Amino acid sequence: MCAKNTKLKLLTFRNMASIFTRIINGEIPCYKIAEDDNYFAFLDINPLAKGHTLVVPKIEEDYIFDLSDETLAGMMVFAKKVAARIKEVTACKRVAVVVLGMEVPHAHIHLIPMNSEADVDFKKAKLELTKEEFLEITSRLQIVE
Ligand code: 5GP
Repeated sequence: MCAKNTKLKLLTFRNMASIFTRIINGEIPCYKIAEDDNYFAFLDINPLAKGHTLVVPKIEEDYIFDLSDETLAGMMVFAKKVAARIKEVTACKRVAVVVLGMEVPHAHIHLIPMNSEADVDFKKAKLELTKEEFLEITSRLQIVE
């Protein structure tokens, strides 16, 4: 393949919407928990616990600390509301706030119901929930404003 084609493919790849942008835009289904003008929260499809939620900014940025101060601060305030709901609904001790970003290049925060440190071990097997279980937890967590 010539260098020009390779460059074109790279540019196309870089310009492709992230999977989370496609979820935000409704192109890929998700279990939506909350949304405002700037942020979106939905259940992680491979959860560590029932209620494991991802909070993302609508603006597409890979690395969380490349977000503007304003977007980063607003994301945490938005996550605080979602975490309060998770804590209330799941009756967990705390809601863990985890940032990895090794899999999806769109900044996001994991909110995970936690009763002990072991609940936030990303090496352990993820839950395999049925659609009905996802829908049930969604209906309990969903914040409609
Ligand atoms: P990280 O980038 O923080 O290492 O991991 C990305 C997280 O996003 C994983 O926990 C993974 O299960 C979740 N994830 C990846 N693709 C999808 C998807 O298409 N839908 C949902 N709901 N979650 C996803």
